[in-house]
Amino acid sequence: MTDAIAHIETFVVTIPRDTPYLGPLRAGEEVNERGYFVRTSNRTIYPVEDRSVLVKVTTHDGVVGWGETYGLTAPGVIGVFVEDLILPLIRGRDPLDVRAIWDDLYDILRVRGYGGGFWLDAVAAVDIALWDICGKLAGVPVRKLLGGERRSSIPAYVSGLPRATVAERIELAQEFVGKGYSAIKFAAAVSSEGIEAEMKALREALGPEIKLMIDFHWMFGAGDAAALIRRLEPYGLFFAEAPVKPEDVEGLAQVARSVSVPVAAGEEWRSIHDAQPRLAAAAVSIVQPEMGHTGITQFMRISELAACHHVATIPHATIGVGIFQAASLQASAAIADLPMHEYQHSIMDRNAALLEGQLKAEAGHYLLPHGPGLGVAPAEALWKHAAKIQG
Ligand code: MG
Repeated sequence: MTDAIAHIETFVVTIPRDTPYLGPLRAGEEVNERGYFVRTSNRTIYPVEDRSVLVKVTTHDGVVGWGETYGLTAPGVIGVFVEDLILPLIRGRDPLDVRAIWDDLYDILRVRGYGGGFWLDAVAAVDIALWDICGKLAGVPVRKLLGGERRSSIPAYVSGLPRATVAERIELAQEFVGKGYSAIKFAAAVSSEGIEAEMKALREALGPEIKLMIDFHWMFGAGDAAALIRRLEPYGLFFAEAPVKPEDVEGLAQVARSVSVPVAAGEEWRSIHDAQPRLAAAAVSIVQPEMGHTGITQFMRISELAACHHVATIPHATIGVGIFQAASLQASAAIADLPMHEYQHSIMDRNAALLEGQLKAEAGHYLLPHGPGLGVAPAEALWKHAAKIQG
């Protein structure tokens, strides 16, 4: 055995922001006593502040690995899973057995209704931390352990234009084009002037060369989604994301069969078991694994299964302090068919000061973190936003 897992600590990180993720609140959207609001367009709950959960895994020899997962809702649940289930089962195991550890943790609750959700989020955070340790033990960036560095930077697409009006959103998009970005995704859930009108306005303002994508946030039935995408085809969409409800596999396949725009999905998947039926049904042309849900182990398996179906990987990016973002870039550097990676500018740029190590996008590309493991770790400045929850 190389080393052994000794301890895991869990922290909630809360970072205030002026405008909620995806943009300002609309009429009928109110913040409740726990700091949540429900977006009326996609009927999904969000906290007004940015929040995620960090895990710190320490080995007997004192090597530290960092992991991170979603903390948008009920973040304390992750601490309970780590304390009550994960740590007692994996304490003493070799961190290099990381893939076997993911499988063992999946097995223990698979027949009890925990094939996803908070449980696999907790497993993902620990998985990322174990890969960080593996890289540190080997003295190499994690991408080297995942098959190698296929690219030295990763094209970044600008996600979300968190402004109140279409004019302001176009202005922000033009700002990014001016900085060298050539791909932009519009969040349909915050459309204020109609999805078709806004996509038309964006295309006219940005010109024919910019890649334009749209995220439907699971808002439609298959028939309506297909009809809308066909109406948007004149605006040259690079992909259409999450057109139907996450559980509607047949609907997703129906949309994919009915439109010429590539259909993308996968940000809510936790494992290969979510990807497999959708790939088998030819329901997606692009998979969008989210590192904060999948961990590195399942991120790579989803991408490899997609490659067997000649489906590209364009990873999702979301609210986090940057640990799972760095893990996502490490994995993305090792994936063959990876045209670009989502870039949550309103989150990542602000959080760079909270991390040690390089986490940066410039002139349309992510730069890769340097150093062994993930290449990033919490900086001193992060701890004023963090509270320990278990461990
Ligand atoms: Mg999305």
